[in-house]
Amino acid sequence: LHEQHSIWRDRPACTADGRHIDIAANIALPIEAAGAFDNGAESIGLFRTEMLYMDRHSAPSESELYAIFCDALGPAGDRSIIIRTMDIGGDKPVPYLNIPPENNPFLGYRAVRIYPEYQALFTTQLRAILRASAHGNLKIMIPMIASLEEILWVKDKLQEVKQQLREDKIPFDESISLGIMLEVPSVMFIIDQCCEEVDFFSIGSNDLTQYLMAVDRDNTRVEHLYNSLNPAFLRALDFVIQAVHRHGKWMGLCGELGGKTSVLPLLVGLGLDEISMSAPAIPAIKSALSQLEYEGCRQLVNQVMNCRTPLQVSHLLAQFRMRQH
Ligand code: PEP
Ligand code: MG
Repeated sequence: LHEQHSIWRDRPACTADGRHIDIAANIALPIEAAGAFDNGAESIGLFRTEMLYMDRHSAPSESELYAIFCDALGPAGDRSIIIRTMDIGGDKPVPYLNIPPENNPFLGYRAVRIYPEYQALFTTQLRAILRASAHGNLKIMIPMIASLEEILWVKDKLQEVKQQLREDKIPFDESISLGIMLEVPSVMFIIDQCCEEVDFFSIGSNDLTQYLMAVDRDNTRVEHLYNSLNPAFLRALDFVIQAVHRHGKWMGLCGELGGKTSVLPLLVGLGLDEISMSAPAIPAIKSALSQLEYEGCRQLVNQVMNCRTPLQVSHLLAQFRMRQH
């Protein structure tokens, strides 16, 4: 295993027929960045920032956040880091925000939905990200977007914070990219409008599966419905990836699905530009990717689009793997 680890660290993530897919890492703390790159990550596709707000008595200050984002940039060189703004509230309670408990936290007051009430918290985080963007390749990603209005509101705030920084003569990356998580199904039906407003998307397969199938991602009694091989889910991905590509924007995926070698042929064939996963999964994914033919994966996806059940999809996948060996 150790040998495999070092072999794949410095090799680019490519299919056998030469299609590059950015293989990225999910992290939650800045100290994880070095390990992620050591595992062969080509970028950080998801820096979950919730942990920075939890288990403490007050929110981190701008300078604390700035230092944290600079720390993460240290081992990155010119590789990019996508910082996801805080996805707190709901099932990730932060006591000092005094948000009352809810019956349906996954459908409740969480992520971008709390930003208008806790505006200072959000703009402080944006300011810290922008300041750190002067020292490396940072991108901003907003969680739980469900409507165009939320995107427009966020862009307004981002403009305000940028203007303040200009007035304060504080440097930042003027062309920093803004993206959104694609994890609430409504976004799929306003995808053309969203493409006009943001630079990139990342599929949150954990939440997208949960919301598309109306199935609690943590409830084992309904886990048979939480199946990423469901044709409904796969057609949704196919539809939305094609739409985003028609607009010339890029599409990543950063849910747990990304680290599963068994579904990799589907993710490749669907045409994702980037797949982000927990760092330990990277060497095996890079190795599996190098054995896949992009064209073969595309044909597989075409066949899968005609499947009626998850079982049919898994049979096709199994046949595909048999042919490979
Ligand atoms: C997701 O929903 O797939 C995701 C990556 O975000 P989180 O797991 O943090 O909700
Ligand atoms: Mg999510």
